[in-house]
Amino acid sequence: MNTLPLHADANGYFGAYGGQYVPPQLKTILDRLDTAFQEAVNDPAFTGEMDRLLRDYVGRPSPLYRADRLTAYAAGARIYLKREDLNHTGAHKINNTIGQGLLARRMGASRLIAETGAGQHGVATATVAALLGMGCDIYMGAEDMRRQHLNVVRMELLGACVHSVTDGLATLKDAVDAALGAWATDPEASFYLLGSAVGPHPYPEVVRTFQSVIGREARAQALQAEGRLPDALVACVGGGSNAIGLFADFLENEDVALVGVEPAGKGLATGLHAATMTAGHPEVIHGMRTYVLADDKGNPTPCYSVAAGLDYPGVGPQHAALRDCGRATYVTATDTEALEAFVLLSHLEGIVPALESSHAIAYALRLASTMRPDQFIIVNLSGRGDKDVDEVTRLLDIRKDVAVAPGGCPL
Ligand SMILES: *Cc1c(COP(=O)(O)O)cnc(C)c1O
Repeated sequence: MNTLPLHADANGYFGAYGGQYVPPQLKTILDRLDTAFQEAVNDPAFTGEMDRLLRDYVGRPSPLYRADRLTAYAAGARIYLKREDLNHTGAHKINNTIGQGLLARRMGASRLIAETGAGQHGVATATVAALLGMGCDIYMGAEDMRRQHLNVVRMELLGACVHSVTDGLATLKDAVDAALGAWATDPEASFYLLGSAVGPHPYPEVVRTFQSVIGREARAQALQAEGRLPDALVACVGGGSNAIGLFADFLENEDVALVGVEPAGKGLATGLHAATMTAGHPEVIHGMRTYVLADDKGNPTPCYSVAAGLDYPGVGPQHAALRDCGRATYVTATDTEALEAFVLLSHLEGIVPALESSHAIAYALRLASTMRPDQFIIVNLSGRGDKDVDEVTRLLDIRKDVAVAPGGCPL
């Protein structure tokens, strides 16, 4: 396969996807960002500072943990968990915000701007703003601020100013528009810190590069533990940053199957899901061409997942290209399957996973059970589930279709 989409081309495309669908004024700013990014990642002073913070502040490398009880339950391939849940702030997002924060400081910015839906990217951005002594403006839909009140308090505690966006439906899409508008009016002193491997070029390149530490570590850890590369990698896909971060270092090893798990919500047939590549088609969204859940006129349709971090109508353009060329496979897990995996991992391993990561666990169990005991797979445990405990408790009380008895014992 000589057309593997390893990097964006000179115009910012992975195959037919990506690009820069933005006004000319923003294009100039993005080109400046691209140049600064290329210089930074080739500067040992920059990468050295990044490595120091990943080690001493985030706590990397994150362990690769052999989950023996989960393996016994699946009764097939050995299952390893890449423990991104053990990072400072509890998820993989901090890898990217540290990288972009350092890049912003290098470019002379004094203020970080970001949008956030569920609040996790906002918290990771506010954390890095505090770490680097920078200002921080977070744009959040008014409706999301109400739903994610604790994250709003957390961001304010970290010194960020949280702006309530009341336009449109007052959710993520409207917050993106407000944040981009704020950046365009102050491109010298501010830096738009994007939270997933999406948006106009060069953001998908930038985010993959900063998240690829996950796969670099996992590769070395797998060789150490098993003496060879894994048979498959499994990760959940919202915008696609934790998945591409895990996959990046394995793209050219075609014996390693790459599997992304999209949220099927209440079921693909109900329309209440966010399975972009499974059920969408190519359109332009948020400055890029990619698979989008959209109506006949190309307008994004409302999407849904029990995991707020997976609830996004588009997907990173590199995933779209990896899907089309067949190098990676994209499957789905429903809310119910994710909830079952949430309880199962908690019971069997003493690890409470994020609802997002629970989608990957759910599919990994299915996959492992079809494989031989001498094979092994790595699942990206993208975050911890403390944030989801209240919601899961509420859902398990009312959801009779989840195979969990009162008190949480699997039936
Ligand atoms: C935000 C988030 C995701 C989804 O984002 P990606 O860019 O697809 O990785 C997945 N897991 C956790 C824990 C998250 O916070």
